[in-house]
Order: sequence, then structure tokens, then C-alpha cells
Amino acid sequence: MKILLKNGTLVSGSGSRREDLLIEDGRIAMTAPSITAEADVVEDMTGKILFPGFIDGHTHMDLHVGGTVTIDDFAAGTKAAISGGTTTIVDFGTQYHGESLVQAEKNWFEKAGSDNSCDYGFHMSISEWTPSVKDEVDIMMADGLTTFKLYMTYPDMMLNDGEIYEVLKKLKEAGSFAGVHCENAPVIDALIRENKAAGNLGPAAHPASRPDTMEAEAVHRLLVIAKEADAPVMVVHTTNAKALREIEAARRDGVTVYCETCPQYLFLDKSVYEKPDFEGAKYVCAPPLRNPEDQEALWKAIRDGVVDIISTDHCSFSWEQRLLGKDDYTKIPGGLPGVESRGNLIWSEGVAAGRISAACACRVLSENPARLFGLYPQKGTLSPGSDADIVVIDPEKTKILTAAEQVSRADYCVYEGKELHGCVDRVYLRGQLCVEDGKVVKTGLGRFIKRGKPDYEHKEGLA
Ligand code: MN
Repeated sequence: MKILLKNGTLVSGSGSRREDLLIEDGRIAMTAPSITAEADVVEDMTGKILFPGFIDGHTHMDLHVGGTVTIDDFAAGTKAAISGGTTTIVDFGTQYHGESLVQAEKNWFEKAGSDNSCDYGFHMSISEWTPSVKDEVDIMMADGLTTFKLYMTYPDMMLNDGEIYEVLKKLKEAGSFAGVHCENAPVIDALIRENKAAGNLGPAAHPASRPDTMEAEAVHRLLVIAKEADAPVMVVHTTNAKALREIEAARRDGVTVYCETCPQYLFLDKSVYEKPDFEGAKYVCAPPLRNPEDQEALWKAIRDGVVDIISTDHCSFSWEQRLLGKDDYTKIPGGLPGVESRGNLIWSEGVAAGRISAACACRVLSENPARLFGLYPQKGTLSPGSDADIVVIDPEKTKILTAAEQVSRADYCVYEGKELHGCVDRVYLRGQLCVEDGKVVKTGLGRFIKRGKPDYEHKEGLA
């Protein structure tokens, strides 16, 4: 099967070019200013922008949180993902206490099942560090789970500083690194006790319990530990200016640190927690939403190349599930739905709004996650030999984000009413047209991707 896409604008991490693109048997066969080869299907892409399929390196499908489970399982979540141009997710397999990594890996393959609408891989979250778990790191690497996750908060998940030091050293030796959730757990616990004692039990107490200082402190501590371990590390879901300053300072000090942020920290601020009738509960996530000044700092960091990737931290709950915390904000299951809106928002509010270039969007959504997570050049680039994972943006099309049109099972949209200027029109997954006119037309084609080792060098100062 040959598909020829004519006259589109092809985007890479270094720029855009007007070229034709030929797909053959699910892969990109060639790109050139003019391709005259015979094809089974020829599509005119005049005026359209073609990106390498977006990669979301931070999703939680079918995850148990606070006595409930995310409303999107893999089938629902990957369908939502592909509707918005995400052709690969890297979800988090999780080792719970008492489990081996091999058991956790098995659990996550079972959860993923066989009905996935985009390609997928797993990072492995380590919650218990023992000599046998250390040995299992090499098994994960061989199985294609080539990156890891650590938590500095949450009693069931967190490792102590010494364990983090040992994990980072081991991962470096294995050719890997960990993404780390950075928040100072004991101080946050104290702030929660303070808020509860003062009778502050609603969603507005959530950001007050998890201040930016306690995120920045944990980022600082992590990066000092990484320096001592002489190991690379990633700060996941970076939310604020103080944390960014710690990352930049550590880089100047020679630490290899990668930086992730998420759309919710760019497009929403903490004023939403004040909404009446418990509506602030819809926005509870950790770390919490911050201030408008932090949003500006994050945009600057994206432009300056300080932020390497934008992922979603998709972790979806229904309104009814949020009500579990109606009398106590700490019982609200935390996390936001977002896997389907990321590409549209970054295009519309980023590229179309003039905040970043298309090349920059390509780096943070496709190319950098592909390189960091060992998917490049199979994914992350429109190059001969790569999987024909292609997102076609129609810059003329408009769309309004609403819960009614959402693919995710979440019954509210945190960007309700936002108008998109330009949006995802088509999505090809390994050459198969899965989204047409912004609607999912083919499901279930996703496969597990056995990832290679990370191959990425952080570069700053790319416009
Ligand atoms: Mn997460």
C-alpha cells in the first residue's frame, strides 16, 4: 500500500519545508520537493502542516488512585490520545510494595490488553529498592522498558534520598535515567495538617498545601543527589519559575537534567481552585496549578530550550469520582484528563498564537520525547524508514473544546469553551488513517513498542 501526501509543509525539530511524502507499507519511504511515484492513494496537503506523530511520555491509564481507578483504561485513553495526534504514549508501569519489577511489568501488560488505538510503551515506577529490584533493572531494559520513574512524595511510592542516589547510579550504569516527581513530602504533610486544623477542607486548600517552594526544594535536592551520583535525571511536570531556576542552576553546575512540563501548567492557573460548588475539585493534581507568572516563565523556558518535553500527566476521573473528596480535599483523586488536547493546544496557543515556532513544537511534542525515551528514529521524525506516524494540522480549522465532544470518558473538560485556531485534521498511525476530520475512524491498531536506550543530548537556545 502506497500513500502519497502532496504539497504539505513538513515540520522537523530544526525547521519546516514544503515537500511531498510517500508512505509505503506503514513506513515513510521518501520525502522530496516533488514525488511522481505511482501510489494507491494521493492526497493533496496544500496548506496543511505535517508533524511526526506526537509522543506523550507521561500518561496514567487504568491507574488506581485514592481508592478508585482512572476512568480511562488503555482502550479509552489511547483512543483519546490518537484523536489529538498522539500516536505513542509511554505510560507508567508501577511496582507496588511487595512486588518485583517483573510482576509489575506483567500487571501492566495485562492492563494494556489488546485494544489500543495508539502505540504504547511503559516506564517502570520503582517504589521499593532492594538488591533483587536492582538486578531487575537490566531485565526491564532488555524488555524495552528503558526509562524509570521515582517519587519523592506519596507514602506508598516514595523512596528516600539514599535510595534515590543508588537508583540513579544503577540507571546510569544501565544506560537509562529516571523521571522524578519532586515535592517535599514531610513539609506538605505538615501543611495539610495545618489546613485541616484550621477547617480548610475544600479544593482551595490544595495549592496552599503544596507550594512552589516545596517543589523547588525537592528539585534542588534531587539535582544535588544526581550530581553526587554523576547520573542524568529528569524533572517531570515542572510547574513554576523557582523550580526552573533550580534546573538551570544545576545545568550550569554540570548536572545532566532533562525538564518536562504539561499543558495544564501553561493554560490554567490556581485561581480555578476558588470556583464555587466544589468545582475547583476538577483541577486537583500534584503538583498543583500555579500563578500566571509561572506560566510565562514556562513559556520562556520552552522557547529557550530549557524545557525538553511537554507531556500531559493524563490521569482522568469523572465528576462523581471527584466527589469522593467533597468533605476533605485530600481525598479528591488527583490528576487531570488531557491526553487528547495537548497537540491542539500547543498548536493553537503556542504556534498559531506566536509564542513558539512549529519547529519548537515539534521538538517538545515529538522529537525530544522520541530521543529521550529510546524511540528515535522509529518515531519522532518524518524521515525515510521511520514509522509513518503523521499528524496533519489544518491551520484554518477552528474548534471549541467541550466535554460533549471529548473522546476521553471524563465527563468534564478542564479547557471547556476554549477556541482552537487550527487543529488536528488527520492522524496516520504506521500509515493507517486513524483520524479524519478530527474524528477517530479506526481503533485498535496500537502496538507495544520495545524501546531502545535513551539517546539524547540536551541543547539550549534553539528558537
Ligand atoms: Mn504522573
